[in-house]
Amino acid sequence: MKFNPAIALERVHHLGEHNGVNQAVNDSATFAFENGEAMTACFHGELEGAFLYSRHWNPSTYSLAKALAAMENTEAAWVTGSGMAAITNVILQLCSAGDHIVASRTVYGGSYAFMKNYLPKFNIEVTFVDTTNLAEVENALQKNTKMVYTETMNNPMLQIADIPSLSKLTKQQNIKLVVDNTFTPLIFSPAVLGADIVVYSMTKFINGKNDTTAGAICANEEFINSLLDLNDGTSMLLGGVLDSYRASNIQKNLYTLPIRMKQHSNNAAYLSKRFNDMGLKSIYPGLEDNPYHQIMKDTMNEKYGFGGMIAIDLNTAERASKFMAMMQEEGVGYLAVSLGYFRTLFSNSGKSTSSEVPEEDQKKMGLSEGLVRFSVGLDEDIEDTFQTIEKCFKAV
Ligand SMILES: *Cc1c(COP(=O)(O)O)cnc(C)c1O
Repeated sequence: MKFNPAIALERVHHLGEHNGVNQAVNDSATFAFENGEAMTACFHGELEGAFLYSRHWNPSTYSLAKALAAMENTEAAWVTGSGMAAITNVILQLCSAGDHIVASRTVYGGSYAFMKNYLPKFNIEVTFVDTTNLAEVENALQKNTKMVYTETMNNPMLQIADIPSLSKLTKQQNIKLVVDNTFTPLIFSPAVLGADIVVYSMTKFINGKNDTTAGAICANEEFINSLLDLNDGTSMLLGGVLDSYRASNIQKNLYTLPIRMKQHSNNAAYLSKRFNDMGLKSIYPGLEDNPYHQIMKDTMNEKYGFGGMIAIDLNTAERASKFMAMMQEEGVGYLAVSLGYFRTLFSNSGKSTSSEVPEEDQKKMGLSEGLVRFSVGLDEDIEDTFQTIEKCFKAV
């Protein structure tokens, strides 16, 4: 049977302390040992099941990581205080001074800024390409390339990377394929498709409540252990671990992710069709004439739909601004960055979440200054939502 991430999640669920249906929240930063030898053994990773210190692991972060690893079908995972912590830890673990990265030009603004502006401090070079174009990726590879970095569904153009083909290429070259799957949890299982490392901003769909930032790194045990090495592990030494209370909350929210993703997808698909009917071209990979429709269909876990993100072009930033203010006033949702929330969120990508990308590169990625990105909420009456959006659109 084909891998199903939701079933994998159900299977890993188990009772907590005192048979509580949820895991108890860990409330300790440090853990005691019976004797000095036991502590020494734990330091050397030779004490099975013991916890040492919460920057490394604690029962709450361990439990969430186990659930995420099951969902991604990876051997292991680790959880961080934000998506950026997950992304930067992975990059700094894989690359040293003198190394090279091939990355998607169309990535989250923070990821772009880190690679473009921060990595040069460490003499790590990045070539930005269109990762949906395999030839471009291949041509950019160098002898010192250590990783290819892409988002499964990218921000904000919603293009879909061909993970199986990228994986074939990176495996041939013996380099790592790192995939940010933030927009499409459950919809894509990048590790099953051949990615080596999957990263998340759990701030978005996975948690779905916009009450905290959080991140995750899912990979094989060897890589996760290397991140947590006491002597030279990036995550251990930079210290970006997730707090126990948040880990516990996110783990519970994980179990409603399957029904949430279906509803986000259904609502976004509905809006994309209605936009089309009124002659307004929307960017949504669920539309049959979207250039990424087929590759998405071929590689997705179909049950969860084509995702909750959709974009429409208002042509100018000024019109986009008026449109968004009016939608907020009319109760469509909120003019806010971020995504995966239960209410609809919208923002003008070029002037907000992608503003770190220089205008010239925005043009290269086909990003219009009037592009409004929606993270469609769990609205019960999406036709009513559409009619309000239509009214605002016509008014500006
Ligand atoms: C939000 C986001 C990030 C960064 O995550 P934070 O939790 O805000 O640090 C990274 N990648 C994508 C695709 C995102 O949407």
